[in-house]
Order: sequence, then C-alpha cells, then structure tokens
Amino acid sequence: MIPAAFDYFRAHSPDEAFAQLQKYGADARVLAGGQSLIPAMRFRLARPAVLVDINELHDLSYVRVDDGTLRIGAIARDAEIERASWIDEGRWSLIHDVSRIVADPVVRQTGTLVGSLCHNDPSGDWPTAALAARADMVVRGKGGSRTVPIDKFLVDSFTTAVSEGEIALEARFPVPDERTAGSYQKIERKVGDFATAAAAVQLSLDADGTIRSAGIALSAAGPCAVRVDEAERALVGQKPSAEVIRAAADAAAKKSAPQADLRGSVAYKKNLAGVLVARGLRQALGRLGVKV
Ligand SMILES: Cc1cc2nc3c(=O)[nH]c(=O)nc-3n(C[C@H](O)[C@H](O)[C@H](O)COP(=O)(O)OP(=O)(O)OC[C@H]3O[C@@H](n4cnc5c(N)ncnc54)[C@H](O)[C@@H]3O)c2cc1C
Repeated sequence: MIPAAFDYFRAHSPDEAFAQLQKYGADARVLAGGQSLIPAMRFRLARPAVLVDINELHDLSYVRVDDGTLRIGAIARDAEIERASWIDEGRWSLIHDVSRIVADPVVRQTGTLVGSLCHNDPSGDWPTAALAARADMVVRGKGGSRTVPIDKFLVDSFTTAVSEGEIALEARFPVPDERTAGSYQKIERKVGDFATAAAAVQLSLDADGTIRSAGIALSAAGPCAVRVDEAERALVGQKPSAEVIRAAADAAAKKSAPQADLRGSVAYKKNLAGVLVARGLRQALGRLGVKV
C-alpha cells in the first residue's frame, strides 16, 4: 500500500523542527530513519498529516563520550554505533552486542537508537538494553529540555514520555567502570526479525568479586520492555554462582508476560526468558574473567 497524503517539512535546525512540531501538535510526527514510521504509514497504521524530517540535523548525529556519559544524538545511525571503535566487548559489551544484532545491516544504515526508543516496540532491542544500562533521554518541550530516566520514558506499547509537539534530542548512558560487562541474548527466527525473546544484562563487580549492581531487562515479554528488578535484587550483594544465576533466571521467567504468536507459545517464550538471562549472565561474567 501507499501512505495516506501528508505534508513534508525538512528541518535545518532543532529550533525549526521544534517550531513545526509545536505548530502542528498531534498531527505531526518526527521522521528519523523512517524504518518503523514509513512501514507503519504504508500499512496505514500511522496517518500523520505532517512529517518533520530531522535527517538534515547533522549536529545531532554524534556518538560520543564526555563528562562520564555516552551521548547518542537523535540522528546517529545504528551503524555508526556499531562502528564506534571504543564500543568493544569490555565495559560497553551490552551496547556493542545490540548494535550488531538490531534489525539487519541495511536497516542499521538509517535506523536510529533514539528513533527506536521513541517508537517503543514491545519487541524492540534498544529499549531493553537502555533499561538494563540505566539510560536517560533528553526531550525538548515547551518549557525547555528535560532529562527523563528510561524507566519513565518507556510508558506503554508504542507510547513514550514524548508528548505532542515535543522531540527527543539525545539518549545518555552512564559510562560503566572497568569492572562492568554486559550481554544481549536474542532468539530470532532469521536475521532482521524481531525477537521471539531477548534479554539484556549488565553487571558491575566489586574488587572482591561481589556483584555491586545489576541491570536485567526483557524484550517481547510485556506491553513494552520489562525491567526484572526481582532478578536484579537476587544478584546484588552476592558472589556469582550457579544458584544466584538460577534465582535471577527464574525471576525473569516468572515476570515475563509474552503473547502467543507465530514465533511461539507463552510457555515457550517464558522459558526462553529465563534461559536467555542465564546465558547473558554467564557471558557477562565471562567477559569479566569470572567462570561460573
Ligand atoms: C526489516 C526491518 C527489521 C527490523 N527489525 C528490528 C529488530 O529486530 N529489532 C528492533 O528493535 N527494531 C527492528 N526494526 C525497527 C528499526 O530498528 C527502526 O529503525 C527503529 O525502530 C526506529 O528508528 P528510526 O530512526 O527508523 O525511526 P522512525 O521510523 O523515523 O521513527 C519511529 C517513531 O519514532 C518517532 N521518532 C523518531 N525519532 C524521534 C525523535 N528524535 N523525537 C521524537 N520522536 C521520534 C517517529 O515519529 C516515529 O513515531 C526493523 C525495521 C525493519 C524495516
């Protein structure tokens, strides 16, 4: 199908984009990589009257670390994150893993992390990773820019804290210390498919090997990405062991509330949630030199 008719506005500055979004309110949508919005328009699941294209806002294409924060601008493509030389398998391993598995290589050339978080698909990969890594979002609204913790940003399926007339400018991730590693585990039917189930894990250890902090989240396990705080509590303060991993995996399987579809039954997906959390924990610990 072809999309319903719409007006198109190409913004040349964040101020211009914001002015157009304020002018048209609920009738307008931001166009970033278009990898979710354009298919939705073609299926007429979305019928915006006005598109505000932000692809010329090159000042928002950065992926950089400063002041202890990784900042990813609104038009930084997934491929740029994947190519960033310092996003290696160490402290950035969670983001590194996702940047190599989200969608497919063609989609990653134009799709953006910020767009994916704004889209907030329940099976999306970036929302889950952002929850586990404790990201924040910078949103520009009428009263200026505000910082929204990711737990508050991801409101419900395809719904975020970005209100009518607003724009998300940047995602921020705290720089993990050297005793931090993560893992993203995803089961997909084929490359480029959305997750049947997926788990994001990020762990920090104390000098004596005790788990100091843990971030655990699931994709395709609820109305939007699900943070498994029960699993995080089962891990923090403990020395890594098979029992502790099992407790976290059980908590994840219990909390997972997937829907049955062509990708599998509820029971299968709940079981996968636990299996993937356990795998992710083992891989993150392995990256820290800890074998369990
Ligand atoms: C074949 C295919 C396979 C895919 N597989 C996966 C997958 O496995 N996992 C996965 O997670 N995703 C997948 N996707 C989705 C893809 O990752 C999208 O790129 C992503 O969801 C949206 O990013 P975008 O920049 O393309 O956003 P767009 O499509 O441009 O926008 C998406 C939504 O977010 C809004 N938006 C975008 N940027 C902003 C902003 N700065 N401020 C406010 N609102 C904004 C738009 O208005 C729109 O409502 C797939 C897509 C395709 C086409």
